[in-house]
Amino acid sequence: MHPINWTEFSEIVVPELSSDRPTDFIPWDLKRREALGRISDLIQFARTTSEFYCNRFRNVPEALLGEQDLAAVPFSSSSDLQVEVPPRGLLTGDPTQSLVFTSGGSSGEPKIVYWTAEELWTNVAYHGKGYAMAGINPGSVVGTFGVPGYLTSEFTVYLGLMRTGSLIVPIGMNNDPERLLRYVTMFHVNTLLVMPSDLMPLLGYLDEKNLELDIPHLVYGGERLFSSTKEYLRKRLHVWRFNSTFQSIDVGTIGFQCEHCTEAQYHIHDTLQYIECVNEQGSWAADGEIGELVITNLHRRLLPVIRYKTGDLIRRLPESCPCGITNPRIELLGRRQEAIKLAGELFRLDDFGVPASRFTGLTGEFQITLEKDRAMDRLRITFEAAGATSRSIRSSQIIVDYLLESVPKLRDLVAARVMHPVVVDIVNREAMLRSPSSGKIIRVNDLRE
Ligand SMILES: [Zn+2]
Repeated sequence: MHPINWTEFSEIVVPELSSDRPTDFIPWDLKRREALGRISDLIQFARTTSEFYCNRFRNVPEALLGEQDLAAVPFSSSSDLQVEVPPRGLLTGDPTQSLVFTSGGSSGEPKIVYWTAEELWTNVAYHGKGYAMAGINPGSVVGTFGVPGYLTSEFTVYLGLMRTGSLIVPIGMNNDPERLLRYVTMFHVNTLLVMPSDLMPLLGYLDEKNLELDIPHLVYGGERLFSSTKEYLRKRLHVWRFNSTFQSIDVGTIGFQCEHCTEAQYHIHDTLQYIECVNEQGSWAADGEIGELVITNLHRRLLPVIRYKTGDLIRRLPESCPCGITNPRIELLGRRQEAIKLAGELFRLDDFGVPASRFTGLTGEFQITLEKDRAMDRLRITFEAAGATSRSIRSSQIIVDYLLESVPKLRDLVAARVMHPVVVDIVNREAMLRSPSSGKIIRVNDLRE
């Protein structure tokens, strides 16, 4: 393996928290041209140093002269990371002064990724920017939960937070709500940086003991915040400001929110990531068309991320944002594989989750179980009850009716008796199947054989 000359690639702009705005005002066209140059260098570097990219980029021209040349560069995806575990063939040098992480993922085999220490520091700066843009500042007392795991990059959250000037309260485990509440009150935590589902044990405890807690600001990541969960948090913890950041350890930090971004909208950290929105045919999606987010990380060299298909479905938003920042904007619509085939028809998981998330007695979390019974599909949807309020829903039949009304294709299949009637259960979190490593609810439990 070749040694890496880091100085060659060290001219990346690391964002400053308060003074980074001027770089954000550089017109996107100029940034795009500069990014193309960087990608061109990256491809040259990768194919001369990594076995994998040497083969993959065999037919790619020496230099990318325009965007059309980029369109001819082959995609990569998580399966490339899984051919060999760990993915040594993708490395461009010896992994000295480096870190390994796994992005467990809610589906399939875990992936292993390598970062050099220097790459991670740069990424952390973008983390920090995202948190600062989300409103975390020296006045914030930030409580974070998080379950320790294997090969986890969780600590980079703290490193990013350290750039915001806030007081950081790393509470750690989320399964001892009594102790958790004690630290939240002891340090007057006013901001929580959490995955929404990690909050559920605490909320259950507050309900059970009839206790009140005020947390004005919630910054979340790692999963979607359903509108019913949001309503519930507003009511139960008196949260009035919600923000999120968009990051992944596979590709690095991706997006941040300005004050004009709604729930699933993000500006892209475009000095770090070059994004493309690609349709089913593998070409660029038209304006407003839904496509898959494809990322090239402009900074990482040890394990290059080049035209990597993230599996996230997005839509490009118009580039001008009222905030004035010219970083491209996207709306995140869900995961690509968040679709299931039922009685031969394709459904997006949102078809089932979103309509039913309107009911106030539910947290918005749901799980799909697919069964075969006498050769016919049965769809069972399990919704998580929101604390004590679950009593307000008297019958799961109301939800079934609502679903059938809002998803006509499903209603037709049931009416045509090509599948069994839909079954809805309302349960506590404990009754739902969860990933042993991340604690996240496993969205689809397909028992069909
Ligand atoms: Zn904006």
